[in-house]
Amino acid sequence: MQVLDRVKINQEISDLKKTYGDDRSALLPILQELQEKYGYLPNLVMQETAHALGIHPVEVESVASFYSFFRRKEKQGKYVLRLCQTISCDLSGKAKVARQLENELGIKFGETTKDGMFTLEYTNCLGMCDQGPALLINDRLFARVTPEKVPQIIADCRRDFIKSEFPKVVPSDVRKSGPILSHDLKPGEGLKAALKNTRSGVIGLIRESGLKGRGGAGFPTAVKWQLAGAAQSAKKFVVCNADEGEPGTFKDRYLLFNHTEMIFDGMTIAAYAIGADKGFVYLRGEYLYLKKHLQEILEKRRQNNLLGENILGKEGFNFDIEIRMGSGAYVCGEETALIESLEGYRGEPRNRPPFPVDTGFQNHPTIVNNVETFLDAALICVKGAKWFNEHGTEKSSGTKLFSVSGDCEKPGIYELPFGITIEQLLKEVKGENAKAVQIGGASGRCVARKDFNRTIAFEDISSGGSIIVFGPQVDMLEVAINFMEFFVEESCGQCTPCREGNVKLLEGLKLLEEGRCSASYLNELMRLAETIQLASKCGLGQSSPNAFVSIIENFKSEILGRVPEKA
Ligand code: SF4
Repeated sequence: MQVLDRVKINQEISDLKKTYGDDRSALLPILQELQEKYGYLPNLVMQETAHALGIHPVEVESVASFYSFFRRKEKQGKYVLRLCQTISCDLSGKAKVARQLENELGIKFGETTKDGMFTLEYTNCLGMCDQGPALLINDRLFARVTPEKVPQIIADCRRDFIKSEFPKVVPSDVRKSGPILSHDLKPGEGLKAALKNTRSGVIGLIRESGLKGRGGAGFPTAVKWQLAGAAQSAKKFVVCNADEGEPGTFKDRYLLFNHTEMIFDGMTIAAYAIGADKGFVYLRGEYLYLKKHLQEILEKRRQNNLLGENILGKEGFNFDIEIRMGSGAYVCGEETALIESLEGYRGEPRNRPPFPVDTGFQNHPTIVNNVETFLDAALICVKGAKWFNEHGTEKSSGTKLFSVSGDCEKPGIYELPFGITIEQLLKEVKGENAKAVQIGGASGRCVARKDFNRTIAFEDISSGGSIIVFGPQVDMLEVAINFMEFFVEESCGQCTPCREGNVKLLEGLKLLEEGRCSASYLNELMRLAETIQLASKCGLGQSSPNAFVSIIENFKSEILGRVPEKA
């Protein structure tokens, strides 16, 4: 049993406060570091953290219980093995790998081995959908894991070889580059071009380009920047949403490692445009292995005066960026939940209005943009609005990065113009045989063959970039169950339609699986789905039944006509 030393814990907290500050927003990073040290969050550690930050211990307990990466009771193993349970990894053989892991370690998922070496857990999307099944061991990723590879991986952990022998970053398959991915800009070039312009000139250029947020919602970037720029406040913030958690999406992981400088250029340009002096990258906990790389690039930029004070000689233009880690909560991809998390609270979405451009981080005007949006903005500042919007459609300008996984011959990252039809996309990825495609991840919609002439664009089917291809053999009911399990797990629980409604939809799908759901009950569930879409507070709840509805609509006869296994 671990003996805890109150004096030592207090010293550690006081050291961490020097790095993260002493206000509430330091809570998550301090807890993350202390968990790393102690293997879990003992009560004494949480109590002392609460005292040190001047908050009630119950508040700390409440925050720790919200995020799936925090462990409050059982000490986790020296190696925490997190196997991805998202649909793409399911399709590539996750179940067999799971059984092999359990056999090899002699424990079930959710347990820790008696020797304290291994903890086995499921996790949602690891951003390796094109190379599944994916396994995260502490901060190290393993792609294309097979049952045969499991014994060797475990043996390497036991010998502590894992630290030296495996690369942390698994290379991505970029199958098609376009104007964005094949840019030839040097670090700072986007920022230098922007600084030759006025602040309003930069926003004007972004408006002219037609750039819309690449996270999926498609809000015009220039409008967001304009509103935050016009807001009166002594402090403003720029936040890069790198909480890429939508099942089936992995292009931000690639961008964060390979186009880091341009993403930071984009953030710094945004800061210049709105008058911010502080930025955050909110990086999902599953991408911890990218943190060191990002910090190294930030340090280089400070040395080159691309960050810091009077940036590139521009008197009074001061800006710096800090990396903050998520802790395993999909809902934090929603911008107000992300801000709550940054402030040290449970990642529960806020009521809107007020919007973050007025009342964001610590009640100051804040813009939150996706990784890809910042990259695009930096390139537009050098290459111009026309260069950008000569691709795409009138309402969806530019090219878009897609993460393609599932039943196709060429999964990977594709840069394609908005307005491409699903049929054209399937030809590119060699998935013409598909019976359905999930566009936009779990919160997107499932499109069947008859609609493959539809286009991917904000005015037709919008997408943050996740494309999952389902071949003729895929059981669509199992797909729907996988997505609903995801939402039941990830709902923050704040509002009833999302918290309770999704559980009911999942129960209905299980009844269908057992052949015990009548057509009339299914109709009732469809009405419930509509209520969830209309009455939920945030985008997560509003979009959570999308997959359910579109799968039932498109595959009703397949689903109702199936013979239950035990019948
Ligand atoms: Fe939370 Fe769901 Fe309500 Fe959003 S819709 S606030 S995720 S319970």
